[in-house]
Amino acid sequence: MYSGGFYPYKTLEKHWGYWCRYIYINRYMDAPKPVYQNLYDLVKEKDYFVLTTNVDHCFQKAGFAKNRIFYTQGDYGLFQCSEPCHKKTYDNEETIKKMVLSQGFRIKDGELQKTEDGEIKLTVPTGLIPYCPRCGKPMSMNLRSDQTFVEDEGWHQAAERYEKFIQDHKKQKIVFLELGVGYNTPGIIKYPFWQMTNTFQHAFYVCLNQGEAYASAEITRKSVYMNEDIGEILKEL
Ligand SMILES: [Zn+2]
Repeated sequence: MYSGGFYPYKTLEKHWGYWCRYIYINRYMDAPKPVYQNLYDLVKEKDYFVLTTNVDHCFQKAGFAKNRIFYTQGDYGLFQCSEPCHKKTYDNEETIKKMVLSQGFRIKDGELQKTEDGEIKLTVPTGLIPYCPRCGKPMSMNLRSDQTFVEDEGWHQAAERYEKFIQDHKKQKIVFLELGVGYNTPGIIKYPFWQMTNTFQHAFYVCLNQGEAYASAEITRKSVYMNEDIGEILKEL
């Protein structure tokens, strides 16, 4: 689904025909496994903060406090101006639901179902295409893929809270728990975690990643890494 998001659809009707289902499934349907809930149970009594490049809202849905999460790369639940002419984001739930319903689905218990007679369409009606309320250009997803990404007020507040959390805890015992971070954008979580573990006296680094668990040589004595399924490890913990 992620790769399909980069396809240059020739019309906005086709573009949103793909994106509405992609967003609905990943943002508005429940995750298939209780991985996030298990993680939340582990940290909810602790002074935690979540830094994530995920955009699917799963942390909030599992109960993590909104003011303890920094979504660096956006959210499938938000539109923005594609230009962008202003730095504001817009909740898209209502529009996305209308789009998938227009394609011949119905929504039952949060899941998408085909209707008996319905043929599934791959487009959305022209009238449902979202446009910027200020400049009239098409809306786009609030996802960081190029320089048009809108960092709105909520984004900046979360960035400040994360920075403050690090400053407040850098001299204390702190665990950098890294879950499933690959080498797509290592500069956001992985490398800063290595550097802070190396610099902060009482820091420890834990890396859980099936297939890519690793810690840099400088922090060998302050780290542990496991090449296993994150869901399985959290269950054991
Ligand atoms: Zn605009």
